[in-house]
Amino acid sequence: MRRQRNTRIIATLGPSSNSIAMIRALHEAGADVFRLNMSHGSHDDVAHLYHAIREVESSARWPIGIMADLQGPKLRIGTFAKGSVMLADGAVFRLDLDSKAGDEIRVNLPHPEIFSVLEPGTSLLLDDGKLRLKVVRCGVDFAETEVMVGGKLSNRKGVNVPHAVLPVAALTEKDRRDLTFVLDLGVDWVALSFVQRPEDVREARDIINGRAGIIAKIEKPAALACLDEILDLSDGVMVARGDLGVELPLEEVPGIQKRIVRKARTLGKPVVVATQMLESMIEAPVPTRAEVSDVANAVFDGADAVMLSGESAAGAHPVEAVSVMSRVASRVEADPMYLAASQRDLAIPEPTTADAISAAARQVAETINAAAIVTYTTSGSTAIRVARERPKKPLLVLTPNILTARRLALVWGLHCVQTEDATSFQDMVEKACEAGLKTDILEIGERIVITAGMPFGTPGKTNVLRIARVASKHQVQ
Ligand code: PGA
Ligand code: MN
Repeated sequence: MRRQRNTRIIATLGPSSNSIAMIRALHEAGADVFRLNMSHGSHDDVAHLYHAIREVESSARWPIGIMADLQGPKLRIGTFAKGSVMLADGAVFRLDLDSKAGDEIRVNLPHPEIFSVLEPGTSLLLDDGKLRLKVVRCGVDFAETEVMVGGKLSNRKGVNVPHAVLPVAALTEKDRRDLTFVLDLGVDWVALSFVQRPEDVREARDIINGRAGIIAKIEKPAALACLDEILDLSDGVMVARGDLGVELPLEEVPGIQKRIVRKARTLGKPVVVATQMLESMIEAPVPTRAEVSDVANAVFDGADAVMLSGESAAGAHPVEAVSVMSRVASRVEADPMYLAASQRDLAIPEPTTADAISAAARQVAETINAAAIVTYTTSGSTAIRVARERPKKPLLVLTPNILTARRLALVWGLHCVQTEDATSFQDMVEKACEAGLKTDILEIGERIVITAGMPFGTPGKTNVLRIARVASKHQVQ
């Protein structure tokens, strides 16, 4: 079956989705990329998930992208003896440095630096702002608080201190250990949490050294102030609405989402919209109307990917959540308003050969009503430039590099197939036809537009645009 949807779906894995069977079901329902959340689980758990995904990939039609999401300097509470507690409004609750399991009276907050900036009256927001505590008394290793807004609090939930500047490093010790580990495993993308400054990305970039793409998660007000520089140093960006909506007034988030998506699209950097997209599906088998609108709006905005967090990691209906996302995205993409918007927002080509060829490929494909654009790429950068044009025709990407194919699984509209490099013009057409027929993107007799680089097999040299007719192997001339 031809894959129709262009918007990509990222599903976070967790206790509800850690078996091979479940990962396969999520992939079949439409998950293109899996996210491993380094805030939860041991390295053994992460390795198990990584290998389970690759196992599923070995019999799947398309390469699967894997994103490791580093915890970053996110403050989190420790664990509870019973996994969670209910905090009543008005109750007294203590946070301290004691690593013992917590209860209704107290819990561990393993961040000595935070206690130094607290004072009586400071607000602490927990679990994406669902619970609110007010500091009553505090010292170097504890804070006694009053529960202003109570509720259920479970293991390792996040803590935000919106008005305090916390003296924390961009990559924590844990992040550095996790980073080495996931790079050795072979993940395709690394997401950096709580980026505040361009230097945070630069530091990670030096360590990663091209072994994975870098996604900067925008979830701090400080990052918005230097978004251009951060985007410049990143390979992609995530609108991390969970923490963004805690750090800033909620009503600011939708406009910020639109601005980040617009900016990233103009630059040709993949952009992900994340968090609470189908939140109610953690429990319910159907989403709310508002959630459906939210997913639809992210697709209308032109995001490359929409993401599931708790819905697929810890919810009761992970597969249904992916299916809903997939159906909503497909439906929006067929809407005349979507098509009109993606043409209206056409990115202006930069004065490079790759952009000139990409823009021409889109135009030629539309003029001759070609069945697809086929792009040869080594590093993936040409394919991303073609995707930036948001062509109406399917984009088939041929690359000798499986790592490129996996990384591009996150990008709008790209269907990647691993092939050997072409050796001649005839071979270039033959390989394109073969891959297109095998993936049901092409049928015999259809016309295609091919972009490639001459001499064949030299990276970074896209300079050829060729129109061909699809034929079976021995008919190509
Ligand atoms: P998180 O990041 O799920 O790691 O917190 C996403 C967000 O904050 O929206
Ligand atoms: Mn976050």
